[in-house]
Order: sequence, then structure tokens, then C-alpha cells
Amino acid sequence: MTADEPTFPPGCAYVRGRYVPMKEATLSVLDWGFLRSDATYDVAHCIDGLFFRLDAHLDRFYRSAEKLRLAIPVDKARCAEIMRECVRRGGVQEAGYVECLITRGVSPTFSRDPRDAVPTFMVFAIPLGFILPRERWEEGLSIHISRIHRIPPESVDPTAKNYHWHDLVQGLYEAYDAGAENVVLTDPAGAVCEGPGFNVFLVKDGRIATPDRGVLEGVSRDTAIRLARDLQIPVEARAIPTDEFRAADEAFITSTAGGIMPIGRIDGRPVGPETRGGAPGPITRRLRDLYWEKHADPAWTTPV
Ligand SMILES: *Cc1c(COP(=O)(O)O)cnc(C)c1O
Repeated sequence: MTADEPTFPPGCAYVRGRYVPMKEATLSVLDWGFLRSDATYDVAHCIDGLFFRLDAHLDRFYRSAEKLRLAIPVDKARCAEIMRECVRRGGVQEAGYVECLITRGVSPTFSRDPRDAVPTFMVFAIPLGFILPRERWEEGLSIHISRIHRIPPESVDPTAKNYHWHDLVQGLYEAYDAGAENVVLTDPAGAVCEGPGFNVFLVKDGRIATPDRGVLEGVSRDTAIRLARDLQIPVEARAIPTDEFRAADEAFITSTAGGIMPIGRIDGRPVGPETRGGAPGPITRRLRDLYWEKHADPAWTTPV
């Protein structure tokens, strides 16, 4: 393989009104989405031919676009149909990662006025990858808590899913240098925020908590909160100091890229009681099992 012949995952994309293989899913170098990270997106997954909480993802996608003053050129029903078609044509019904995105686009004159640009809308479906693969669920994720601050919510609205990832990617390199595999960023007050594409939770004395500020309000985060409430486990969204996070009985992450996944180690130390050796605790296990049971519930799924 040479730089001129990159390989692409299998799948299918919808670009400029056509369904194309992933290697043809390209963007102009002049697109504001590329040159300015001026874009928003959403990702849903489908498993065994069913989308999970598709409406929640579509609602967030359209809300995010509105916040950024981007007009999505199709309505939600049409967007869902394009997502379905990408999954079918891409052959990823069994486990698909389905992303819709809209960028500010390209202006014919390369004007500096964002209002002159014509937005770019794309959808693609590729095989779903898990942040922590199933075969490692007993071990859990090894997390580094970074001193890098997540971009403050006063600068970039974290509730509109975005590609402002310098902080997250630099955090990943910091984690690799520290011998960990993934990272959680913090805020100036020393509270934990989120990691690259996932939210975080802790369990302490039978109570669950997740950060309420400086984070994307993940659909999987919302699912975990609802499932906890169904189980009558107290759950609150509030500031979580890093010391409290390190001292948790259990900790887990949530993401469309893998659902509810346990954290086994924080900064090299096993999470929870020494005797458990970092293996997932009982509440994490129950929530994770329920999460996957819900993937067969007609109330939360939509057929591809
Ligand atoms: C997508 C994302 C998440 C997780 O959101 P889900 O809807 O659960 O997939 C968390 N944080 C960031 C920064 C994200 O981009």
C-alpha cells in the first residue's frame, strides 16, 4: 500500500446526492468543515438489522445543526431513509456505525463570510467498532486522567457534537505516554469531563454520578441514566472531582461505539475494591446487560 492508494473500510456513503463506496466519499479541500472544523454530526449504530434509539440521534443532529446555524437540506424522515440505504448498500446491517454530518460547505468565491458557503451534507455507514472490544469486558478500559482541559463550554458548545478534537487527541497521546489506552479530560476546576467520543460515570456506595458540564449529552449516557432509574438506583448529573473519580467503587464509559463499557484502571490503579482487581462491578454489569437487552425492545429500535 502506498500513500496514493489508501485502503478504506467496507460500507457505503451518500455524497452529493449519490450512493458511493467509502473510497469515493470525499470532501473539497476548500470545505469549511475541513479548513475550520465548522461542522456537526451524529452517529447511530445498528445491530442485527435494528437501529438503536434512531430518533434520539436524529433529534440531536437537527438540534446541533440549528445551534450552529446550519440548515440540513433534507428532513428527518429522508435522513433516516438515507441512513437505512447506506446500511443496506454497505452490507453492515449486523453491526453498523452510521454517521450523518453537515459542514458549512464551500463558497464559490472562497469568501470569508460563512453565509456565502453552501453546506455539505453526507451520510456513511461502516462496520461498528467498540471503544473496548467485548473480549476485554472483564478486564476493562485503562484510563489516564489528563491535565488537558476539555474545550470550555463557553468557547465551543459541547452539546452540539463536533470535530474540535485537538484536546482529545493530544490527551490520547498523553495517555499512551503514561501507559494507558484511553483518556478522560478535565476542566479548570479539576472535575472530570469526557473522553474521545465517550461520557464517563462512577458508582459510589450504590449511587451513580456523571458530569453535568462540559460534555456532550450522549444518547448512551441518557440510556444509562434511564436504565439506572428503572432499576431505582439513584443517579445524578453533577461535578465530579478527579479524586472522587479515582476513589469510585465502579466506573464505566458510555458511547454509541460500544455501549456501556467498564473502566478497569484509572492512572494505573484498579478501580474499586482490591479483591476485584479492576473487573467490572455489579451495577456496571447490570446496566450493561440491560443496555443490550434493550436492543431487542421495539420501543427503542427501528428496523433497517
Ligand atoms: C459522541 C460523543 C459522546 C458519546 O455520545 P453517544 O451519543 O453516547 O454516542 C461523548 N462525548 C463526545 C465528545 C462525543 O463526540
